[in-house]
Amino acid sequence: MEWNTEQQALKQRYFEVGRDLVRPSAAFRDESVSFDKALWRKVGDTGLLGLSMPEQYGGSGLSITDFSAALEGFAEGCQDMGVLVTFVAQVALVQSSLVNYGTHEQCEKWLPSLISGEKLACFAITEQGCGSDVRSIKTQVEKTVDGYVLNGKKWNITNAPIADICMTFAKVKDKKEKAISCFILETNQSAVTQSEPFSLMGNRGTPIGSIDFNDVELSHRNLVSDEENGLAVLYFSFLIERILTGVLVSGCIRPLIKECAQYSQERHAFGSPIGNNQYVQQYIVDIESKLELLNGVIFKALYMIEQGRDCSKLASVIKMYSSEIFHESSLSAMRVLGNYGYRRENYYERLLRDAIGLLFAGGTTEIHKRVIWDSILSDVKNNPRVHKNLNLSWQENTARTTMSEAV
Ligand SMILES: Cc1cc2nc3c(=O)[nH]c(=O)nc-3n(C[C@H](O)[C@H](O)[C@H](O)COP(=O)(O)OP(=O)(O)OC[C@H]3O[C@@H](n4cnc5c(N)ncnc54)[C@H](O)[C@@H]3O)c2cc1C
Repeated sequence: MEWNTEQQALKQRYFEVGRDLVRPSAAFRDESVSFDKALWRKVGDTGLLGLSMPEQYGGSGLSITDFSAALEGFAEGCQDMGVLVTFVAQVALVQSSLVNYGTHEQCEKWLPSLISGEKLACFAITEQGCGSDVRSIKTQVEKTVDGYVLNGKKWNITNAPIADICMTFAKVKDKKEKAISCFILETNQSAVTQSEPFSLMGNRGTPIGSIDFNDVELSHRNLVSDEENGLAVLYFSFLIERILTGVLVSGCIRPLIKECAQYSQERHAFGSPIGNNQYVQQYIVDIESKLELLNGVIFKALYMIEQGRDCSKLASVIKMYSSEIFHESSLSAMRVLGNYGYRRENYYERLLRDAIGLLFAGGTTEIHKRVIWDSILSDVKNNPRVHKNLNLSWQENTARTTMSEAV
């Protein structure tokens, strides 16, 4: 399975955008732990942030499959997990949730400035006391006569230090554990505090930090979906995030194969190219094989999404497998490239540091194994897992590219 002719053209177009616009300054942002908002605006100008968004809000209305082709190309061109993690947080998590669960009024208010790159959004669920166990969040929302009051602290959130818009989740006071609400709000208010960017091992070109809510007053216009339906919004956003993470990992890994193979032919040791050794070949062959397998699962998941079918289990397979092979492949590349790969002026060591972050971001491998195990068990018990209120109808708003067209 591979992209059709139009998708290949889209992929090439965004490969060039990534290569020419983003890549030249990626090392600087990593070194200086900085994010370039002007650059983000330029990415917005290319249309990438709105490719899969409805046209009425400034997007292009493409299918998720077309969009994935563009994203894979962009990732391959930019090789900048800073910009890519920011991208996933805003487009896969915030924008997609808004299209699927927000009202027309909310989409009209929030989407155009996000799609254009004028504004930046964060998606805040994690807290210092809880990461994997999202239902145990402590952030709380209390109903008032004419709205809500939000209190809590979110931690380790992509884009939080500089986001203009925040989508967040809170427990409804005095309701049962699963009663979680989703809100979208402006950060430019005194009741919201944003931290400085954290200094992390990798993903340093994306601003990651905390965001605190101290008696933030909200109205029904800030509420996304029904009052106690936040978990459905969350599961939908995770589904999209996990698949798109696989897509961007695919883009990041692909160049390693050619670059390592070429190096293995040029670099000599003991009188012959290092690539003549099967020990060396094995590293490159493994990257190639795993990438092919990843792509197969991605196409299947994209097909299911376009059919409006729940592919939560596959999304977990993709997230788990892609982050594991990303980490393994960038380490394998370093082994083949030796000192050359270890030098900071080359991008391989940055890729390896960034790949380690992806083992946690978007859910850890252990948690995805849990999801897959639960799904196996429910099949055994003939009791299919159904996500309550999971709405997969968003593709109805966009043009459809079927699997047969994409093959
Ligand atoms: C680069 C990056 C960007 C991020 N961006 C965001 C963001 O934008 N928004 C956001 O909300 N969060 C974000 N996060 C946070 C991320 O979602 C959490 O780090 C992740 O959910 C794991 O949480 P934790 O680190 O608290 O680990 P914990 O939940 O404390 O887990 C620690 C270890 O215990 C294991 N473990 C826990 N429970 C179980 C279990 N039941 N079975 C087996 N093993 C278990 C975990 O797998 C892990 O190995 C980001 C993280 C990173 C690294």
